[in-house]
Amino acid sequence: METIIKKIDPNNMTSDDFSEAAALLREGKLVAFPTETVYGLGGNAYDSTASARIYAAKGRPSDNPLIVHISSFEEITPLVKDIPGKARALADRFWPGPLTMILFKSDKVPKETTGGLDTVAIRMPSHPIANRLIKEAGIPIAAPSANASGRPSTTKAEHVIEDLDGRIDMIIDGGSSDIGLESTIVDLTVSPALILRPGYITIEMLREVIPDIEYDKAVLKRIKDDTIVAKAPGMKYRHYAPKGELTIYEGEIGRVSKAIREAAKEKLDAGYSVGILTSDELAESYAGLQTGCDNGSLYIRDIGSRENEEEIAAGLFDALRYFDEVKADHIYAESFVEGGLGQAIMNRLMKAAGYHIIEV
Ligand code: AMP
Ligand code: MG
Repeated sequence: METIIKKIDPNNMTSDDFSEAAALLREGKLVAFPTETVYGLGGNAYDSTASARIYAAKGRPSDNPLIVHISSFEEITPLVKDIPGKARALADRFWPGPLTMILFKSDKVPKETTGGLDTVAIRMPSHPIANRLIKEAGIPIAAPSANASGRPSTTKAEHVIEDLDGRIDMIIDGGSSDIGLESTIVDLTVSPALILRPGYITIEMLREVIPDIEYDKAVLKRIKDDTIVAKAPGMKYRHYAPKGELTIYEGEIGRVSKAIREAAKEKLDAGYSVGILTSDELAESYAGLQTGCDNGSLYIRDIGSRENEEEIAAGLFDALRYFDEVKADHIYAESFVEGGLGQAIMNRLMKAAGYHIIEV
């Protein structure tokens, strides 16, 4: 299949820009598009064939449900059994934006879209291209992250092309996703409400609206423990993983840098290709590592200041993809704080590392 690449400027767009994409979606075809979190791979949420195509294009297990995207609050009505007060309150405060709510689904939403569940995940994105595309298509759009299953999510059209070119009908290139991490997912079908996936909307922000909201226990786990079963079905699968072996070092930053230098040096001497995921604060401490070692190659990626969690979040998936591009065999990552957005950053990083964390 030939994938159409369509550039749209989010600051200067017209209805014409969307006519082909909207028609494709109405025909049950697949269109990848930018959102403020990551790129999404969209199909008609009411069309079980479109959902089946999404799973096939990504190589995604079919019990891993999709998030349904809408462009105004009223569009939620046909998708759900009823709209709890908490959903209205969260929507008032955080929609459009990076928050997904789980509600009981209506009969109109096929089980293929929800991975066989009787609940449905719904989000209203704030990105102007995503919002306009949904409006022009006139249907709710089921869209998981637009990456090949298991790989890091995509935050630029180039990433989507890498993973899905030739497998989907169109990719809309609308520049980089600002946030760079997927939405916060909140389950409103249980009491108390639970956070199934941390994201840009933090637990502190959510508690201003739902004071008793908690994390699902799978979110807080810090070790590989198969007895903790994730409530969000997709979370049991390998996620975000680069091809090389990723290890996270945690502790006082001077000790972290020293431990990473030692580990990297050993692998470089043995002829491996080594990646280091670092921050402004520590990047220079790895500078001399390659000196006197002609065997392996070293790739350092600095994703920003440790003080600036938004910058770290925005650069994380791009960095993981970079290490694949340079074919790093071993990747060493610093850990980041776990308050606020740090919780979402560490959740993705720990999954990418298969929970391989070394305390120093
Ligand atoms: P992605 O858009 O690729 O980040 O995937 C969407 C994620 O949303 C899935 O992996 C699930 O973890 C979660 N999700 C979607 N629908 C539901 C649902 N009905 N119940 C629980 N989790 C869901
Ligand atoms: Mg995903």
